[in-house]
Amino acid sequence: MTLEGKTAVITGSNSGIGLGIARRLAREGANVVLNSYTDTPEDHALAVDISEATGTKARYIQADLSNGDAARDLIAKAGTCDVLINNAGIQHVAPIDEFPTAKWEAIIAIMLSSAFHTTAAALPMMRAAGWGRVINLASAHGLTASPYKCAYVAAKHGVVGMTKVVALETAQEPITANAICPGYVKTPLVEAQIPDTAKKYNMTEEEVIQKVILERQPSKEFATTDQLGGVAAFLCSDDAAQITGTTISVDGGWTAL
Ligand code: NAD
Repeated sequence: MTLEGKTAVITGSNSGIGLGIARRLAREGANVVLNSYTDTPEDHALAVDISEATGTKARYIQADLSNGDAARDLIAKAGTCDVLINNAGIQHVAPIDEFPTAKWEAIIAIMLSSAFHTTAAALPMMRAAGWGRVINLASAHGLTASPYKCAYVAAKHGVVGMTKVVALETAQEPITANAICPGYVKTPLVEAQIPDTAKKYNMTEEEVIQKVILERQPSKEFATTDQLGGVAAFLCSDDAAQITGTTISVDGGWTAL
């Protein structure tokens, strides 16, 4: 199916998975709205690059999704939203009794509350258009846990739960809501963890990748941002019209363990 004439809003899409999904949905014909909390020439250049490569309309709209009003305003500024990809995310790692409250609040706001606000703002647009797709980037950590990631694991489990609610509330409409649960994907979010972990365990960065990061990913390979773009495109297709309220793992077997 083509996404020609549809608008996809992808939160947190000036890098990593969000950018990979934006590029793929634009190749499928969607007009994409890129977003992050920054507002640099490079951010806007990404949209120009996508427009030139695909012939679709791409825009960059700044919004700091730690603020609920800004999240709703992002959707209002997009003007229309047929496909909503809730992807923005951050990470912080610390034992729960040392976990900074500000980090807890930021992670819950950016990864869970923002998806509530954008979905609430986008659903009326999808209903008016008579078609819609809500795709939440959860994680293997939306289905299972690791130590030291209390806020991330809580937010991602929350996102999986909210996805189910949205699916039930839209079940008799041509709208679906699903969560993609990646294992490890090599993006800035993961790359940022490698040097510190190498220092902490006195390992080379390659040892950290194989023995620490990919330890729980049985395939011993990272998923790619292109693959996640492909899964998002599939969830937008007519073949996926009866897939709603579920999770799709892209984790090299992690959650089969
Ligand atoms: P990334 O750091 O490359 O991208 C995160 C995006 O979120 C960036 O565009 C960043 O600017 C944006 N963002 C951060 N704070 C924001 C804010 N306050 N307002 C607006 N945008 C903000 O990381 P990624 O790996 O591409 O992660 C994307 C999503 O995928 C996240 O939700 C992450 O939890 C999830 N995920 C990633 C992995 C992985 O291994 N990389 C695995 C599972 C799930």
